[in-house]
Amino acid sequence: MSDRLEIAGRALQRPLCNHCLGRLFASVSRGLSNDQRGAIVRFSIPGAPSPPASVDECYICGGLFDEVQKLAELAVRASDEFEFKTFLVGTKIDAELTEREEAFWTEVGAKETESIKSEMNREIGKVLEAKLGKTVDFANPEVVFLIDTRFDRVVLDVAPLFVYGRYRKFSRELPQTRWICRECRGKGCPHCGGKGRMYEMSVQDYTGPIVMRHAEGTEDFFHGMGREDIDARMLGNGRPFVVEVRKPMRRTIDLEAVQREINDVGKGVVEVEGMRVANRAEMRAIKESTHPKTYRVRVLFQADFDHGKLNEVVTSLAGKPISQQTPNRVAHRRADLERVRTVRRIEVESVIGREAVLVVETDSGTYIKELMHGDEGRTQPNVAGIVGVPCEVLELDVIAIGDKGE
Ligand SMILES: [Zn+2]
Ligand SMILES: [Zn+2]
Repeated sequence: MSDRLEIAGRALQRPLCNHCLGRLFASVSRGLSNDQRGAIVRFSIPGAPSPPASVDECYICGGLFDEVQKLAELAVRASDEFEFKTFLVGTKIDAELTEREEAFWTEVGAKETESIKSEMNREIGKVLEAKLGKTVDFANPEVVFLIDTRFDRVVLDVAPLFVYGRYRKFSRELPQTRWICRECRGKGCPHCGGKGRMYEMSVQDYTGPIVMRHAEGTEDFFHGMGREDIDARMLGNGRPFVVEVRKPMRRTIDLEAVQREINDVGKGVVEVEGMRVANRAEMRAIKESTHPKTYRVRVLFQADFDHGKLNEVVTSLAGKPISQQTPNRVAHRRADLERVRTVRRIEVESVIGREAVLVVETDSGTYIKELMHGDEGRTQPNVAGIVGVPCEVLELDVIAIGDKGE
């Protein structure tokens, strides 16, 4: 203890406010503010000088702690229009000031210190908790106040709002996400017919902007649990997705109303259900998930064929690994790699003439069209190869995502 008294004695050679005195011993005890701790330390030193009459005269902070109320007030005003329950404060402190503080620690030999920035964050946080009736959250704050104490400036960092749902898509001409023209980046050019997009609409366009409007945000992002081809319908229980809205002013929105509105606007094209608030972790999990998928695929063979051959398809593909070289149709934008996927289940639903309908359940990431026609031998084995007649895919639908019965 005498050590600490010596440090305090040396420190008090300078004019110090109780905050800055107490912070020299911040880690000695819990449950006290630095202000209180400073007062106790000062009291325990015989003949210690009183705190400077004006905090401005404090050698370390120069009166910064007098600004806590004012800065908190600025933060309250900056967040006026935003709905949130939790927040965190991050302050920016004049570098000259923090350097002086660190030099001072060395000068007096203090080792149980806390930085001025850390105390400012906490003190402003305490005032804000009281003023706003909201809670400081270190892990997942909905709003972060970035407070620049040098210029009395407050910037808000608002956490995005994540909304989960499942979509069905009944169109064969609809991409999942907004597809901005590569040539003009959205400005409009001959390549995109002046629209700035390769497709006017997408599942994202039918959903994201509506969620965004209700949340009063600035931008929407769409995260799907994988994606289907533009010309494939998405049926069954639908595909899980998360809409991310940046800088939302509202976080409690009427998702039933949102859902009704989406289904109204999207009638016959896109339908959503199960909408609820999600979070970032769930969004990531959805993006990275690798559930098996079940497809219904209508195939046309180029010549008559022995229908019995389709039973061979079933026996030689079910439960077997297949090797797929990156398909020709996507080779221009993806690396040419081999992937191995398993056909978990394959059934022939119907055969009429040259047309067959198959139901196939495969690992996530299987190229179904290529599994049918073989992609010039790049997928092995393949349905056309086994039947011995080339074929093309007429229609493809995703009918389930996840294990059967899930
Ligand atoms: Zn001070
Ligand atoms: Zn363009």
